[in-house]
Amino acid sequence: MTSANDIATAAALILAGGLVAFPTETVYGLGADATQDHAVAKIYAAKGRPQFNPLITHVVDVEAAFALGKFSADALKLAARFWPGPLTLVVPRRADCPVSLLASAGLPSLALRVPAHPIALELLRAVGRPVVAPSANPSGRISPTTAAHVRAGLTPDMILDGGACAVGVESTVVSLLDRPRLLRPGGLARETIESALGFALEDAETGGALHSPGQLESHYAPHAEMRLNAVQAEVGEVYLGFGASGGAHNLSPSGDVVEAAANLFRMLHEIDALKPKCIAVAPIPHSGLGEAINDRLKRAAAPR
Ligand code: AMP
Ligand code: MG
Repeated sequence: MTSANDIATAAALILAGGLVAFPTETVYGLGADATQDHAVAKIYAAKGRPQFNPLITHVVDVEAAFALGKFSADALKLAARFWPGPLTLVVPRRADCPVSLLASAGLPSLALRVPAHPIALELLRAVGRPVVAPSANPSGRISPTTAAHVRAGLTPDMILDGGACAVGVESTVVSLLDRPRLLRPGGLARETIESALGFALEDAETGGALHSPGQLESHYAPHAEMRLNAVQAEVGEVYLGFGASGGAHNLSPSGDVVEAAANLFRMLHEIDALKPKCIAVAPIPHSGLGEAINDRLKRAAAPR
């Protein structure tokens, strides 16, 4: 099924910015180098995601996770107890975290997991970097639990075949940004997590706020005001261009929406650090990843 040679080829493809589908114990993942903006953007394009939902970053062990995120005492306890395994922990990003902001969908947090599958772990070891991997299926379709499922929906650069996935449902997602909170039920039962913690998990809906990132209207907002569909900057504005309309900051001089997605959150952060009164953004075509870019820009520009 999968040889050491296949692992080496797959790792080289990922380091070169390619997409490789690989088995985990939950479902097959579509993997890319988490540190390359453009590789991460290709994942959203391949899956046809209408929004930039944040992705899970996969790492080879607990130490690799600690280098990327900040772990509270509860987070440490869950990582020590359940990794490798079907549990994803959402923690604050470290200041020097090299994972693409696109993988965090512009949020200051990061979803991390150490998968319990020999092929996934061998691949992560060979890549030597964090790997983002959502389920390897087109957005809105059923998650793949065999290599044939992957092949039916996507055409990645390579598919590592590890047979059928043992768990077969996605990982459980727990946020540790405040009180431990169950964001998504999955392959590890809530009761098992609660007995390890010694108390009950908060629910995603409680606490007055929505915790599913894609639904937070102004969650992606920079400090500056935002003016969309702007043909040029006015006084006090910094311009974020696209295609021919652009200066120092251009999402994609060639007018490519995949490249624009790769640059979006990083460039918004860069411009925001200049502390302009307002960021004026060029019109972005609505096709392909343009839909997700426009969705995020609309949220960033929403009244707050
Ligand atoms: P998938 O990659 O399709 O398995 O989905 C990833 C899941 O993790 C989704 O439910 C995301 O909303 C969730 N997730 C990933 N990153 C974050 C984050 N930074 N904050 C909250 N939820 C996250
Ligand atoms: Mg999925």
